[in-house]
Amino acid sequence: MYNFLLKRKMKKIVVKFGGSNLKEAADIHKLLQVIKYYNRPLAIVVSAFYGITNKLVDIMNSSKNDEKNIEDFTAFLADMKEKIISQYIKDEKNKAEVLQQLDIRLKELKRQLLGINYLGEIPEFIEDAVLSFGEKLSALIIAAIVRNEGFECEEILPENLHLITDGEFGNATVDFESSLEFVRDRLSEDKIFIIPGFYGVSKEGRKTIFGRGGSDYSAAAIASCVDAEFLDVWKDVDGFQTADPKLVENPLTISHLNYGEAAELAYFGAKILHPRTVEPLLNKNIPIRIFNINKTDAKLTPLTIIERQENIRDEVIKSVTYSDDFCVIRLSGPGVGIKHGLVHKITSQLEEERINIKLIFNTHTHINLFFSTFDIDRAYSIIKDIPLSGINRCIKKTGLSTVAVVGCGMMEKLGIAARLFSAVAKEGVNIETINFGASDVVTYFILDQKDRNRAINAIHNEFFSKLIEQKETI
Ligand code: ASP
Ligand code: MG
Repeated sequence: MYNFLLKRKMKKIVVKFGGSNLKEAADIHKLLQVIKYYNRPLAIVVSAFYGITNKLVDIMNSSKNDEKNIEDFTAFLADMKEKIISQYIKDEKNKAEVLQQLDIRLKELKRQLLGINYLGEIPEFIEDAVLSFGEKLSALIIAAIVRNEGFECEEILPENLHLITDGEFGNATVDFESSLEFVRDRLSEDKIFIIPGFYGVSKEGRKTIFGRGGSDYSAAAIASCVDAEFLDVWKDVDGFQTADPKLVENPLTISHLNYGEAAELAYFGAKILHPRTVEPLLNKNIPIRIFNINKTDAKLTPLTIIERQENIRDEVIKSVTYSDDFCVIRLSGPGVGIKHGLVHKITSQLEEERINIKLIFNTHTHINLFFSTFDIDRAYSIIKDIPLSGINRCIKKTGLSTVAVVGCGMMEKLGIAARLFSAVAKEGVNIETINFGASDVVTYFILDQKDRNRAINAIHNEFFSKLIEQKETI
């Protein structure tokens, strides 16, 4: 049995293992190794196994019209989990116990899917409950395996942790006032807690998810409640980098970011963290540390640390990222920029339909509203029917990318905009829009998706090629 006696009453570290750490059974060895390196009380938040949440989305949709896949799907999950359990837990009694728990959860999932089938539709409270199963299954078996290794370890579900949300299905926010004390007290013991990420419960006890990729936000919320020493996020890539390694050669790892930079990078597409992760940590200044599970050592050296402190580079820019998830609706007409209430009319309609506007800017003759690909068609059909005086054209455009350049101090340093512009222009890339100065941390271009990689490489070269020659990290 591992004994944390010497590490009593230390602040907790909240550790998050994501789907990229849970691709196959063998990955659990890596998790166990990391937990041994920590060798102290932890609150561990886990995602679903890789791809399972997508499978839950598919089975929910197919269950609306047909029950024939439900049995196969739950059998597939049972088989997958049983194999992992048998590989890691040899003690028959422990194994029987976790298999029994697994069976209970899978039966519950099956009941909910059959409910969808009877109804022929997916009520939103069932949708969120079904989606939570990916995390509930991984937490269950990981907790059993960690216990089996000799750690004192308990699984706690968000409903028992009292992680209370505002009740918004599909996109909930933690209600810290209602959650804080209970979560803190419940996690105060000196042991390892394993908590499924991705959801909390409304005051009425309904499961509400935090949006896709939301386990990072769960972990951050819990870290905030327990006043954690760190939030440690484990990935299978080298932390935040100067650009996506799939698009540029030899990007550098960024050792320090501040909260604003990390949030903007996440918002504009870097897939390292969910954009909402920094939100609960800001006020308490709890650092986020990012690790690569395939490159770790006993000292647990992080690749990227994110905290409040600003660290302005001489060259200002720290990273260039992109997202293909920005589509625009452009309204045109003479003098829209000086007409009262146009934007209000649009935003209040969209608000009713719960459609999020990702970016908005206007000129004297245009209003540009940006939406996620997921929302663009719905947004367009609503907006084009709103009577708006003075608007004579409404078009939507997809196939765009935003390329965002992030670094503190952007507004203070002369010449950055010119360098960005000319680097992209030299490549002959046609820019739809550039937004410089909406924040001190980010400048972004909007361009055709086909030009996106060339623009990223041009910018990356302009700002980092010398450093890459010297093989520095920044
Ligand atoms: N499993 C959820 C998803 O795929 C949440 C997460 O992984 O963070 O969106
Ligand atoms: Mg994730």
